[in-house]
Amino acid sequence: MKRKTLLYAAMLAIPMAVTSPDAGAQNKPAFPEDQLNQAEYAAHLRFLASDEMRGRMTGTPWLEVAARYVAEQYRAAGLAPVQGAEGYLQNIPLARRTPPAAGQIVLGGDTLRQGKSMMIRNGGALEWSGGFVFVGYGTVDPERAIDDYKGLDVKGKVAVAKFGSAGGSDFMGSLTSLSEKKRQLAAELGAVALVELYRGPREWRLFLSFLGRAGLDIQSGSSEFVHFLVEDTVGTLAAKAEQQKGSAGSIQTPGIRVEVAKTSNVIGLVRGSDPKLRDEYVLLTAHYDHIGTRAPRGAASADTIYNGARDNAMGTVALIAAARSFTVRPPKRSVIIAALTGEEVGGFGSRYLAEHPPAPMDHIVFDLNTDGAGFDDTTIVTVVGLERTTAQEAIIKGARRYGLAAIKDPVPEQNLFNRSDNTKFASLGVPAPTFSAGFHAFGDEINKYYHTAADEAGDDFNFSYFLKFCKAYVHSARLIADMKEKPFWIPGDTYEKAGRKLYHMKESPARQ
Ligand SMILES: [Zn+2]
Repeated sequence: MKRKTLLYAAMLAIPMAVTSPDAGAQNKPAFPEDQLNQAEYAAHLRFLASDEMRGRMTGTPWLEVAARYVAEQYRAAGLAPVQGAEGYLQNIPLARRTPPAAGQIVLGGDTLRQGKSMMIRNGGALEWSGGFVFVGYGTVDPERAIDDYKGLDVKGKVAVAKFGSAGGSDFMGSLTSLSEKKRQLAAELGAVALVELYRGPREWRLFLSFLGRAGLDIQSGSSEFVHFLVEDTVGTLAAKAEQQKGSAGSIQTPGIRVEVAKTSNVIGLVRGSDPKLRDEYVLLTAHYDHIGTRAPRGAASADTIYNGARDNAMGTVALIAAARSFTVRPPKRSVIIAALTGEEVGGFGSRYLAEHPPAPMDHIVFDLNTDGAGFDDTTIVTVVGLERTTAQEAIIKGARRYGLAAIKDPVPEQNLFNRSDNTKFASLGVPAPTFSAGFHAFGDEINKYYHTAADEAGDDFNFSYFLKFCKAYVHSARLIADMKEKPFWIPGDTYEKAGRKLYHMKESPARQ
């Protein structure tokens, strides 16, 4: 009897002790996020940031293990899968592209060698000789009455075009979208290859290292068409090509080696509790990839594994906390929880998610991203973009519940708002701040861990702050998903206009 009585007493006592909320919160209603358990969340973090994960580099099997781990946590929590995903995995077709070491173009008597005065930008192997046709800037734009191909036939020949455009254009645009457009156009007109003559503000040797290294990209349809960038710093080649109009020459290249790489976003859904609001979605994002392994930095440290505990296993585990809390007690709006791949190597995860959203983009009313480099103050959270949306109060309140003050970006000169996955959604108009562990400056305490081998969940890691951080993130997200008014940009924000367009709103009166 006694024994049983004691057991009953113990059983009654245990839940009392476990459910007792944080000090000072006795009078507040309880939320599942209040109960998150430090040992459990430390375990998630220790696993994702362990040496065995080898730095969670995109395209490696280690990141696949991390994805599987997050997916199984979603399953255990009871998240619903989203359309277009396999289980919780949204597969992204990635290609690892390795440029060749050799190759050459002979053009108008000049021999241009791969890695010296020429770099291949796109395409497979090509051995060819025949005619080269100069096509000006290689663009066609009926609206501006531009047709650089007028009267020219490039079928079966190589098109030679100048870099950029006649009116002068922004450098990045010339290097990316404009260059790709020129490639597509030349291919459509039946050219064998495109040679772009580079003359611009950036030094040629920067291209040699940039285009010369192996890299990952989302696989695109037009990977076979051969496209070169050639140094023409003083315009000699362009002048010569322009004068000769056409000439004979040859091309020899082994082409870019393309290997398919497997990677995924890990996405799950919680249906909102309010039938009137559940067609609106709050998106929660955090990248779960990091930068892998690197050669040791001198004799000081032999560590080659960049564990990425702060960047961004912390944010990834905060998503697991959201999955656990919201399935127990859903907020009014629906919540999409998305662990994103590829942030550190070009933002492929957020790019792909924005192109293949699990709900119509104009129904996604907010993105609360979480990412960070480290923390120098365990009494705060730093929210990059805090003051830029009407969710500011909700975030401040969500953090305050666990004794943390939310502060805005203290280092705008670092341009942090545009350095994580939130940028992609913000540019489309979705209000999208980044919730980070607390920092006041990008100083020594941050640089000690930011993209270094020291970013581990080791003995110096503050697990009790980490748990508060997870709780604050989840509760802020909950308060946003429960907001009466749909959250939006503060008037005059850089992205307000994009937001008005996305959500079919009228132009703001101030701008009419
Ligand atoms: Zn990061």
